Amino acid sequence: MNTTSLNSEIYIGLGSNLESPRQQVQDAIKELRAHPAIFNLHASSLYQSKPLGPSAGPSIGPSEQPDYINAVVQIATSLAPQQLLFELQQIENLHQRKREIRWGPRTLDLDILLWHQQIINTPTLNIPHLEVCNRDFVLIPLYELNRNLHIPTYGPIETLVRTLEPHSLKKLIP
Ligand code: ADP
Ligand code: MG
Repeated sequence: MNTTSLNSEIYIGLGSNLESPRQQVQDAIKELRAHPAIFNLHASSLYQSKPLGPSAGPSIGPSEQPDYINAVVQIATSLAPQQLLFELQQIENLHQRKREIRWGPRTLDLDILLWHQQIINTPTLNIPHLEVCNRDFVLIPLYELNRNLHIPTYGPIETLVRTLEPHSLKKLIP
């Protein structure tokens, strides 16, 4: 085992609220684990959460969406950040993700949350992910995986979790 894998702080967030969401997330974790350029995957528990977004709005508002299933995985990889983003989008496409509706329901969403202590801002990639610190379904699984994590520009995960608003996140029993 090399030190890169041991110290790897690359985290991916997974979410689904369509077509057997729990299965979608479990299958995506298996696909990530099987990827030839992804190593040492550690997965958080699965969590169930309420949909986000404006409650009033067009035909498919969050209130009409099913609950989400979320998880976070920690990985090591030989890929560069943009290459990993591409591979994640391939997996999303395999799950027949439709991209039309922002905040709308989705079969699978894969986001790169953190890339070690790096800050990356390009037109197609923001790391840390822009929403990482607003979302209980990201922070709580991250905290489960690494209680000592420091999120660049936002601070220690312990503080972020402690200051979260009350939430409806439910940890699922395997
Ligand atoms: P969201 O995840 O915000 O609900 P999408 O999954 O539709 O929305 O992503 C829209 C775009 O976000 C992608 O095409 C991608 O280029 C961009 N993006 C920026 N930063 C990231 C990141 N850290 N992980 C995944 N996608 C990202
Ligand atoms: Mg996404």
